Amino acid sequence: MKMELSRIATVLNAVGEQTDGRTVTRVQIDSRVVQPGDLFVCLPGERVDGHSFAADAVRKGAVAVLAQRPLPEVDGAPVLLVRDTFKALGDLAVAWRGSVQSRVVAVTGSAGKTTVKELIAQTLAAEMSVAKNHKNLNNQIGLPLSMLAASGEEDVWVMEVGISRQGDMEELAPIASPDLAVIHNIGPAHLEGLGSLRGVAEAKAHLLTSVRRGGAAIVNRDYPELWEAAQRIFPSVRAMSTQNEKAPYFCTYLGPSQQGGVFLLRLEDERLEVDLPFLGAHFAENVVAAASAAYLLGMSAGSIVQALAKAQLPDQRFAAHHLGFGTLIDDTYNANPLSMSRAIQAATELAGNRPLVLVLGDMLELGSEAEAEHVRLGERAAASGCAAVVYRGGFAKAVARGLAQAGFKGRFQEVRAGAELPPVLEDLGLTKEQAGTVILAKGSRSSRMEEFVTALRSSY
Ligand code: ATP
Ligand code: MG
Repeated sequence: MKMELSRIATVLNAVGEQTDGRTVTRVQIDSRVVQPGDLFVCLPGERVDGHSFAADAVRKGAVAVLAQRPLPEVDGAPVLLVRDTFKALGDLAVAWRGSVQSRVVAVTGSAGKTTVKELIAQTLAAEMSVAKNHKNLNNQIGLPLSMLAASGEEDVWVMEVGISRQGDMEELAPIASPDLAVIHNIGPAHLEGLGSLRGVAEAKAHLLTSVRRGGAAIVNRDYPELWEAAQRIFPSVRAMSTQNEKAPYFCTYLGPSQQGGVFLLRLEDERLEVDLPFLGAHFAENVVAAASAAYLLGMSAGSIVQALAKAQLPDQRFAAHHLGFGTLIDDTYNANPLSMSRAIQAATELAGNRPLVLVLGDMLELGSEAEAEHVRLGERAAASGCAAVVYRGGFAKAVARGLAQAGFKGRFQEVRAGAELPPVLEDLGLTKEQAGTVILAKGSRSSRMEEFVTALRSSY
């Protein structure tokens, strides 16, 4: 970014000292990474208060400090005072966005936002200059920081928007104020904060209230609550689907290939069969979201599929590793009931007649639904016909109950550490010689299921 400090002070209605002649080229909230030219924003956190690091930031060359209380100890750079530095960070991103020509694509959904953001950004990058949020910076802090990190010279910014509570989207949508809003799915995620599936639908669809004049929205119509809310809020919303071939933007998964999976994609009048470097029926909704977004931004169907064929997904998103026993699917980045059931379904299809082992961990932030959702997980796992379920986490009993209720005949084993997994698999008769097994590893971020992936990759 690049903004005069005096303009920042005006935009934020800040009470400040001498700001003239200073220009801000970056915004930082972590004093450890401050460099000359940065504006240091003091965010009061639960454990640490950014205000305590302001003097340090200035020693490192910050051109100014944005704070919500006076900082007499800061010497050598102006302190701009606002009432609420969180809000000011968002306001600053809005002002910055308003001063550049870059178009903004905002992506939200319950599972796969980062995946879709990456697919859109990488597709567009074949023909345009693109900025995107770093990793998963998608909340009231991450979204503004991502926008402020852009140079403003880019053709497009692709921004992931993540919510976990009622009211989050009310704050985030006006910050993103997208030219194109994309909602690729909803599911029971963050129920602790969003209540019900309808609550999730309403909260996500609220993104459409901030679409810029002349802008567009594309929403997956396979989710009735979402589609209803989207049409109500944004009557000209366009439909994408993985179920209904009549939708103008459509994609379906045809099956695995050597390098990933084959998908059938329709973009208005064009119909293409494409071999892409990712697999699983649930990825069809990511593909159609990315392809239709790029199409609406002016790319041709041909260049879109060419770019998608070269796309690289961020790690731990349904990544297939071919090991001694067969295929390990590393889907350990995160889990909620939607992504969990989709992953189990996709792994089951991939396994076909071969043995399937599910290495699962807790799904978190489900509030009062947590117990019931884990019983349902057990039922789903049983229905997959898998040979074994290996589980780590506090909801093991609920999962076991679901398995039992569904008449599961396979083995259920609770484990505590990654190292316990290889012996369990050996017990099950999984050796390097017995190729063909499919193992799916998945759980919420804080379940750290990647430990099991590491253990397996080093043992097989
Ligand atoms: P977060 O809420 O943590 O930001 P996210 O919505 O950005 O998550 P990703 O990080 O892309 O989502 O993926 C989270 C998990 O969901 C991964 O395990 C990924 O493989 C899986 N996933 C990706 N796309 C889909 C999809 N369309 N449906 C279900 N699960 C998906
Ligand atoms: Mg994400």
